[in-house]
Amino acid sequence: MTIQSVCVYCGSSNRVDESYKQIARDVGTAIGQHNLQLVYGGGAVGLMGLVADSTLSAGGKVIGIIPEHIRAHEVQHKHLTELHVVDSMHTRKDLMVEKSDAFIVLPGGFGTLDEAFEVLTWKQLALHNKPIVIYNADGFWTPLLTLIEHMIETGFAPSSNRSIFRAATTIDELFTALNAPIPRSFGPEEKWA
Ligand code: AMP
Repeated sequence: MTIQSVCVYCGSSNRVDESYKQIARDVGTAIGQHNLQLVYGGGAVGLMGLVADSTLSAGGKVIGIIPEHIRAHEVQHKHLTELHVVDSMHTRKDLMVEKSDAFIVLPGGFGTLDEAFEVLTWKQLALHNKPIVIYNADGFWTPLLTLIEHMIETGFAPSSNRSIFRAATTIDELFTALNAPIPRSFGPEEKWA
């Protein structure tokens, strides 16, 4: 399948090092340059705002999906190609998944983890079979990747979970991983084998 629309999950905090902000700009720019459409949370804050601005500047289209009740906090982005104001966090997540052909996880906090693990666990249960790439730039996600290995080694997660996502450390690796063929679909039988 050719990817046309890619969802980015990332932090909404402004209080992060410049190096993380640059990661967001680089990924946003690359999304625009690859003529992909960005789907994201619709805010103008933190890495979210930077990814959106960079994709727009590179000529890409950006779809924002924001719940009404956090519109003021996340400072709804004013210049998106398309904005959907929805009634809840759950609707937001559903729509983000529906509108995307693939997912990128950038550095972030609790919200980013929640969103990333929703698409990871949905894929584990065969509710979708879209590429998910954890962008481990500057080693931000190394502790998470170590935790995932620990879960597999201790038997809490099946070894097949290693194939549910890919990790990338450079922009080239990121886009190669997004377009790599998915080996197969997963399913609940593996989870509870
Ligand atoms: P954070 O990584 O905590 O800065 O949050 C990143 C994004 O995730 C923000 O747009 C949050 O609004 C969003 N978020 C946080 N919790 C949830 C949730 N339960 N469902 C959907 N989005 C969420």
